[in-house]
Amino acid sequence: MPHATGSHTSEPIRILIVDDAEESRLLLQSILTGARYRGVQAVESARAAFKVLGMPQPALNQPLPDLILLDHVMSDIDGVEACRRIKAVEALRDIPIIMVTVATEERTLKQAFTAGVVDYIMKPIRKVEFLARVSAGLHLKRELDARKARERELVEVTQRLEAANKMLLSRSALDGLTVIPNRRRFDEVLEHEWKRAMRTGRSLSVVLIDVDDFKPYNDTYGHQAGDHCLKRVAEVLSRGVKRPGDLVARYGGEEFAVVLPGTDVDGASEMAETFREQIEACAMPHAQSRAGRVVTISAGVAAIVPARGDKSAALIEAADRALYQAKHEGRNRIRAAARD
Ligand code: GH3
Ligand code: MG
Ligand code: MG
Repeated sequence: MPHATGSHTSEPIRILIVDDAEESRLLLQSILTGARYRGVQAVESARAAFKVLGMPQPALNQPLPDLILLDHVMSDIDGVEACRRIKAVEALRDIPIIMVTVATEERTLKQAFTAGVVDYIMKPIRKVEFLARVSAGLHLKRELDARKARERELVEVTQRLEAANKMLLSRSALDGLTVIPNRRRFDEVLEHEWKRAMRTGRSLSVVLIDVDDFKPYNDTYGHQAGDHCLKRVAEVLSRGVKRPGDLVARYGGEEFAVVLPGTDVDGASEMAETFREQIEACAMPHAQSRAGRVVTISAGVAAIVPARGDKSAALIEAADRALYQAKHEGRNRIRAAARD
């Protein structure tokens, strides 16, 4: 039983008959209408068909046939040539074309298939065979349409997902590469903890950490390996903090920063030393490092019990100076800012 209507919509299936002989057109039309196909249209020439198809450039919202039945021998442009021209139009490429022909010479059929027809029907028409071939052609079209729709959907979903991810990251407090808190988050937390330390009178520490000789690491192992290394460092540092208020953030390129509330300079130095040992213990090879054969970090520690008038920027600066000192003294070590 041929499908007389589309399975997903109430839109009638559109079939375009192109034949220059009136009795042929009437015959095909009456068989199709008898099989309850409602959207059947017949034209008498290839040129008339091109017009119906909106060639050379069909409008976007133009209803297009689901199947074309194309007479082989016509007076203006023959079926093979007409098929070639229709298939050359991107928007029409997926419409199956069935050639209706008296000729079955191998050469003619070969030409027709090369031009892009999916099937051929022999004249004189035998109704059952004709309807079966029409049905098969329409089935193919439905499959193609469904596949295209799935592909479009996939592209759309992927695009939406990418956009959503981008927005989430741009708004979020997470660093895109290492997926640990970013600098913005670090600044927020530092301000928050600063105020709290001021109220409670407890010590607040920061540790600034910088990967040693990371530029030569990138130069030797490549930027991707560099990224991978940064992720690993981020993981180790994040796992190294234990208290709920502690925060490890990616501060910039290959620099990380840690906020340790309620921790004095000795406690923070111990933490920093543990970080240093843990990174060294990862034993990520670094042949070009001046500090050893593996990836190492240097760290600067600073602590303060903030009083009115103090600025958190000064705490960061102190940690940065200590970090500079650690670098200066040979890297793979930690230094603490002098107590004030
Ligand atoms: P030092 O021991 O004095 O810190 O030397 P260094 O080579 O680590 O210092 P420098 O600041 O000159 O180099 C930092 C390098 O980190 C350069 C930069 O290309 C690299 N870097 C920064 N961000 C990223 C990143 O996201 N991925 C990778 N792969 N490399 C990064
Ligand atoms: Mg650096
Ligand atoms: Mg560095």
